[in-house]
Amino acid sequence: MRYLVLSDIHSNIDALEAVLDTAANVPWDRLLVLGDLVGYCAEPNAVVDRVRAMAPEAIVRGNHDKAAAGFDAAEDFNLVARQAAEWTAAALNRENRQYLASLPRGPIAVDPLIEICHGAPGDEDDYVVNEESIRRAFMASSRPLCIFGHTHIGVFYGEDERGPVLLGPEPEGAGRMRMLAGRRYLFNPGSVGQPRDADPRASYGLVDTARMLVEIRRVPYPVERAQARILNAGLPTVLADRLAVGR
Ligand code: ZN
Repeated sequence: MRYLVLSDIHSNIDALEAVLDTAANVPWDRLLVLGDLVGYCAEPNAVVDRVRAMAPEAIVRGNHDKAAAGFDAAEDFNLVARQAAEWTAAALNRENRQYLASLPRGPIAVDPLIEICHGAPGDEDDYVVNEESIRRAFMASSRPLCIFGHTHIGVFYGEDERGPVLLGPEPEGAGRMRMLAGRRYLFNPGSVGQPRDADPRASYGLVDTARMLVEIRRVPYPVERAQARILNAGLPTVLADRLAVGR
């Protein structure tokens, strides 16, 4: 099975379309979506429409999806994120708000190899960012390959006798990495709509279960177009600025 993996699209339709255009030239069978379809950028309905139309094999909710659907008061969000969440909740049409409200909490086991979650397998809102959280994620994962998002930075971790090991990606935030049978891995494909590794290109993942490969790919997209939408919508300008620098 070859999975296309999308995470943290964040209402950035320009980035999503660029990813889907290039992914059309890559053989993939099924789609996995790791949550945060909305928040930050200005096209929540277009993004949710597009994701719904593709009928993902598996999808989980992210913290921004919960906020937009009205589950969370977004109290733990910073001011800019909260403003974007409130704008998003008002902009979503009823069907799309219901769709976001219906998304399940992760983790979800996809097949014998893979499970997906938004933040971490033990807590959908946790960030897998340091040795302690990486160890926690390995402990909580129920499949050899746990795919997560939320940090907006593509990474691939394995384990040796001493603990977690960073295996990629390199160079330049992209690359293909091999899995070994009997080992366990954590994989983040990076963010489609708001990358934070200082590279503004959209980031997405591919997993080939037969060949035991995971891959992170990067795609340039018209950042100025996404920025213009953000400014026209009256969203905070910092949300437009950060797209240009990938932060
Ligand atoms: Zn996110």
